[in-house]
Amino acid sequence: MHDTDLVIIGGGLVGASLAVALAETGLRITVVEATAADTPAHPSYDERVIALSLGSARIFEGMGLWSAIAPAAAPIQQVHVSDRGHCGFAHLAAADEGVPALGYVASARAMGAALSARMAASPRIEVLRPGRLQGLQITKQRVHLEVAVAGASRLLTAALLVAADGGESAVRKRLGLKTRARDYGHDAIVATVTPQRIPTATRPGTAFERFTDSGPLALLPMTEGRYGVVWTAPRHETADILNLSDEAFSAALQRRFGNRLGELTRPSRRHAYPLRLMLARQLTRARLLLIGNAAHTLHPVAGQGFNLGLRDVAELADLLVDAQRTAKDLGGPAVLGPYRRRRAPDHALIAGLTDGLARLFVNPWGPVRAGRNLGLLGLDLVPMARHQLARRFMGLSGRQPRLTRGLPAESALPPAPAATTQPR
Ligand SMILES: Cc1cc2nc3c(=O)[nH]c(=O)nc-3n(C[C@H](O)[C@H](O)[C@H](O)COP(=O)(O)OP(=O)(O)OC[C@H]3O[C@@H](n4cnc5c(N)ncnc54)[C@H](O)[C@@H]3O)c2cc1C
Repeated sequence: MHDTDLVIIGGGLVGASLAVALAETGLRITVVEATAADTPAHPSYDERVIALSLGSARIFEGMGLWSAIAPAAAPIQQVHVSDRGHCGFAHLAAADEGVPALGYVASARAMGAALSARMAASPRIEVLRPGRLQGLQITKQRVHLEVAVAGASRLLTAALLVAADGGESAVRKRLGLKTRARDYGHDAIVATVTPQRIPTATRPGTAFERFTDSGPLALLPMTEGRYGVVWTAPRHETADILNLSDEAFSAALQRRFGNRLGELTRPSRRHAYPLRLMLARQLTRARLLLIGNAAHTLHPVAGQGFNLGLRDVAELADLLVDAQRTAKDLGGPAVLGPYRRRRAPDHALIAGLTDGLARLFVNPWGPVRAGRNLGLLGLDLVPMARHQLARRFMGLSGRQPRLTRGLPAESALPPAPAATTQPR
């Protein structure tokens, strides 16, 4: 029987981030991850191209991980939002917001590699993989778990169980926590392309979000002159798009996107992800809480899912460190209550915003179309509205836990002097 403070089920982007965020706090952490080490087909550290908000970059800075991610991350200097075939467009710029970048783009694989290396190097983090939860019992004092690790059985006890096991969370389902879910009937097809020569009229570091009749299309600037493509299409079209030759894929993408980046060449392998909305109605139970996709799975329009999950991490890290410092129960009301109260409104707001965008822009009805074009134009013309939207999407609105300010989660020891941070 191994006793620990915290067991995290799921060592994907969000579960691993929580473990790394707490690595220097003195807490003992066990991560149970279903996949084997260094599997090439990791379900979380894959080819997804992730737009990180500025707030998320600061969280990684607070975790001491930004220097490992930054070489693989390209800054977003502008965001250009348009409605294909219509006049409305909006434009957000880092310079207007007084920040060095609105955010950064990195592959999930690059971030996963940095997180895995840090977990492996931390004496306070034990990673059990490939690990599967076999038994779970929650008593008044402790969580009791039976985990099968590479065929052998391990018994664990902990003060708190964190479910970070993704949208299909086995922990959430096992405990019967209710959700609200909707299938969009669309898939996101993800790839990278390399523009052959970007026209001089297009400023470097511009991310494009283009709304089309069949769903949004994003092109995100990456390192090495590549652009990440997130192409949303009705599910019945997915197989056809995946089966296109490289030349036909580039040509189809070009027709959909236009010429703002010049000729789009050298597409990578394509991968498809089914899109759905899922929000947990219940974020906590005694000695248990949900974070990341286990709590909220979103449409990728506006690139918010992982950013929201990192804000779960930042808030939870503050609460756990406070509970540890004041000798409170890590799995008790001092952590669970504030976590629920502080995170649920952010989940509901971002889920509402992304769901509204995803549905509004596939609506072909004339008045809706006219309204959304006016909305985009209005957004471009009203600096205050644009500024508020930019701050929300940069993750700089609302409560700012320590990590979101680029500061490390404090340890139980007296706090060290605040570190200076890079991504301001
Ligand atoms: C096409 C696409 C584009 C996206 N773009 C963006 C973007 O630009 N910006 C952004 O912020 N977000 C984006 N997202 C969302 C982002 O990918 C997710 O929010 C993020 O991956 C969630 O991480 P997670 O760790 O919570 O869940 P997951 O990534 O699903 O990881 C779950 C982990 O748990 C493990 N696991 C599952 N079941 C078990 C079990 N029973 N026991 C043990 N381990 C288990 C899995 O192996 C996995 O490692 C995008 C998503 C998609 C689909």
